[in-house]
Formats: sequence, structure tokens, C-alpha cells
Amino acid sequence: MDDTPLASERGPHADPTHEIRTPDETLPDDLAADRTLDDVTADIVVCRACPRLVAWREQVGREKVARYRDRTYWARPVPGYGDPLARIAIVGLAPAAHGGNRTGRVFTGDRSGDVLFAAMYRAGLASQPTSTSADDGMVVRDAYVAAAVRCAPPLNRPLPSERDHCLPYLVRELRLLPEVRVVVALGAFGWDGVLRTLDILGQRVRPRPPFGHGALAQVGPYALLGCFHPSQQNTFTGRLTPVMLDDVLGRARELAGLAPSTAAGSEESAVS
Ligand code: SF4
Repeated sequence: MDDTPLASERGPHADPTHEIRTPDETLPDDLAADRTLDDVTADIVVCRACPRLVAWREQVGREKVARYRDRTYWARPVPGYGDPLARIAIVGLAPAAHGGNRTGRVFTGDRSGDVLFAAMYRAGLASQPTSTSADDGMVVRDAYVAAAVRCAPPLNRPLPSERDHCLPYLVRELRLLPEVRVVVALGAFGWDGVLRTLDILGQRVRPRPPFGHGALAQVGPYALLGCFHPSQQNTFTGRLTPVMLDDVLGRARELAGLAPSTAAGSEESAVS
């Protein structure tokens, strides 16, 4: 373990003057105090509500892995990212230890992000097919990408209590994304997290619809669309293929009232 400083206040989102948040402060009493997504981001990046996850994200950032030993890890919570006028929200599980936890941007710097952003590019939702760093010039259009839990968890498994601490951030983001009509949930954990989030927003559906790839449920004004998570476990085994991701994102565009993608690369998946 070395003493290399973490990204700290030098990271892509941090406001070093912002107060540190503790448990029970993640959902302000006065939600109207949130005026912009930047307000939510400012709270997320300083959050320390889950001691286990704080310890893990920082340990990973100090110890690193060999291929990134010269990099400074973000090692903080990872906020959502995208278009404030998004019609599609895409919600994953949590940042990867050496992906989002390293780069400070969701689905950036790891294989899952490679697969997701390549598909978003083909779907006309991202300006480039690779998502490598927070300053790589990526522009996300008509979409907003977030996770149910904002800190990298050990073994990619957050505890229910950690999920519950963190979901208020997604609540706050969705409240500030008034154009969202479709939520794409990546994996069963994301699906469950979105349903719980919509519950908090007063959009309850009973019985809870089960997760599945391609599953569709109308929850209040939102169409909830299921997609297998683009984890290496799913993409390396062929459980999730580029064509399957393209079908989901194409369906999301349709449900969101967006025209079919004409983005460069949108035909590539036919031969992937
Ligand atoms: S997981 Fe969420 S609630 Fe817990 S410390 Fe990270 S940002 Fe805060």
C-alpha cells in the first residue's frame, strides 16, 4: 500500500468547500433546495454515509492494480452523468473498483463501460464509442447514466442498507430530469433499485414486475425496461450480446419518442 493521495479535491466533480455528508442527510427535507443536477452531484461526491464502502473505495484507490499503478484514483462516490434534458435514464448497479472508482465517471474505464458506451454510440446516445476518462470529450445526448449505488462495493455486492442509503441520490436526480420517460435498468439489482426509487417518488406498482432482459413495465409516467447488465460475466459468456443491447436501446428510443438512431456505427451490431 502506498501513500499516493487520492483524487480528492482535484477530481472531475469535487467541490472542496462542500460539507461532508453523513447518514440520514442524503435526502434533504426540502427537496426543492435542489435546483440543478450539480447540486446533487456536489452532495454525492463528498458522501461518507456507508463506512464499509468508504473504506473499500479508498483502499482500492491506494492499493490499485498493476496496470493502473501510475494513475491517481478518484476513490469517491461516482455521480450520474449525461444530458439534463434526457428522455432515457440508464441505471446500473455500482461503480467498478478500477473503472468508475478510478476515473470518477460512471461506466468509464472498464469493460462494462466499453460495451455500454459502444452500444449507446450506435444508438445515437453518445458522441463516441469509447469511454475512457472523465476528460475524454464524451457527450451523452438524450440520456443520463447513473447507478443505484455510487461507491464501488467489495465483490460488486452492496448491502441492502448501503443501497437504501444511496437510492435517495437517484430520487433527487430523477426529480431533476423532467423529460425522462424511459428508465433502462441494467441487471436485477438496478431493476430493483429503480422500482424502489420510483416508490419513493410516489410511483408504486404492485405486484412488483419481475426483472428480465427485455422486460417492460409501466410505472406511473415511466416505462421501465430491463436489460442484462453489461458485466464481463455476461458479455464474455454471450448472455448479453451487442445485438441484444442494441435492441433494448432501440426500444428505449422508441418508447421515449425519439426517432430511430442514424448514428455512425448503428449498423455495426448486425455483424457483431
Ligand atoms: S454508497 Fe452512496 S450513500 Fe453510501 S457512501 Fe457511497 S455515495 Fe454515500
